[in-house]
Amino acid sequence: MSVRTRFAPSPTGYLHIGGARTALFNYLFARHHGGQYLLRIEDTDKARSTQAAVQQILDSLEWMGLSPDEPPVMQTSREARHAEVARELLAAGKAYLAYDTPEELAAMRAEAEAAKRPFKYDGSRWINLDPTQAPALPGAIRIKAPRGGETVVADLVQGEVRVADTELDDMIILRSDGTPTYLHAVVVDDHDMAITHVIRGDDHLTNTFRQCMVYDAMGWRRPHFAHIPLIHGADGAKLSKRHGAVGALEFAEQGFLPEALCNYLLRLGWGHGDEEIVPRERAIELFDLKDVGRAASRMDYAKLTHLNGVYIRAAEDDRLVRDVLARFTRRGIDFGTEAAARIRALMPDLKARAKTLVELADAAIFAVADGAPVPDTKAAVLLTEEARARLADLAQFLADAPWERADLEQWLRDYAEVKGVKLGQVAQPLRVALTGSTQSPPIDAVLVALGRAESLARILAASGDAV
Ligand code: GLU
Repeated sequence: MSVRTRFAPSPTGYLHIGGARTALFNYLFARHHGGQYLLRIEDTDKARSTQAAVQQILDSLEWMGLSPDEPPVMQTSREARHAEVARELLAAGKAYLAYDTPEELAAMRAEAEAAKRPFKYDGSRWINLDPTQAPALPGAIRIKAPRGGETVVADLVQGEVRVADTELDDMIILRSDGTPTYLHAVVVDDHDMAITHVIRGDDHLTNTFRQCMVYDAMGWRRPHFAHIPLIHGADGAKLSKRHGAVGALEFAEQGFLPEALCNYLLRLGWGHGDEEIVPRERAIELFDLKDVGRAASRMDYAKLTHLNGVYIRAAEDDRLVRDVLARFTRRGIDFGTEAAARIRALMPDLKARAKTLVELADAAIFAVADGAPVPDTKAAVLLTEEARARLADLAQFLADAPWERADLEQWLRDYAEVKGVKLGQVAQPLRVALTGSTQSPPIDAVLVALGRAESLARILAASGDAV
């Protein structure tokens, strides 16, 4: 049977990177085995589910290259089927109707709480009810929990997990208003979608035993389960906003490349020797659940940022230029074709030092507008009287230089030598004049990208002379 996995987010908010990693593992496992990877939107909690969240999830998955192989399944669209299965179980005597009122159920819960024991529904009131004695009310359908044995799940990550049947109770599968409960819906959907492997966060492990009741009662083959540990923050607490970015698209906004984020999330909790750089194709080749660790992993933003730098250096220049320009547009910065060409020319040098796309855009901004950039505080200090005189002199000296990187570099060396100063004493004021900053790509690269006219105009402006 072909492997089929699914990612099943609830659309109650943005896609958390813990969820994104679950999607990634489902995707990689399916691809590794030549199977399919599906998406089910679990929107049965109507009060908390929103269309905006659905769209965010789809956008996040697309950004990460994790779009499903088939159109997403909306769980609410299947409610009639969930009810049908519940009624089938009722008809087969595997479930029964219970007529407890909400008040009665609340009282049972309160009683358990007062006695400091976990609440377990006692089915004896309705389980053997003679149908002719049934109240003239809509009842809830409760599945008959197994009694007297234990349920064993051979989890592909957690190993064998056992739960005594005494821990389980007759859970509601169809409420008295005809709506299915979540745990029941998940099983019916996973069965109908022919899911072979359920890979999800280990916060769902206890649900598995309740879900097994539905599989077993229907005589359906259970899928394989793999419960993966959650992602924690550096302090060991469950990862949340206070640790830093947690929404997948937040990482996009903060300048992370999707392949860097995927690589990082993959390595968080899965490993193949000490391979750190594991691009998508390699990940598909290597990924298997047996290499997923059992301990919760800790999010390390510094490590992710480092990895992002590696991927930025490996990324195509044109793609990075497009990203930088799109960021300018979002920041309301106008640019023309000339600015785009300058950034394109500088990209091999710019990307060598940027760790995020935000840093890349910041480092490229000096090339956009014509005229001398306003120097930042650190740079302004360097524009001493002596430096300005030097710049005025340099503008004259460079006016006739051949405008090629190697030539310009040589000209600047010669200039420093003739004047008896260090190259830095020439290059630093020049850098400030051209970029407004003390850090930039090599000065000859900057001169070439800006072109002769613009470079000379900037040098003159910074020297204090009118252009
Ligand atoms: N909808 C659940 C969640 O978002 C996932 C359930 C599952 O994977 O079975 O946590």
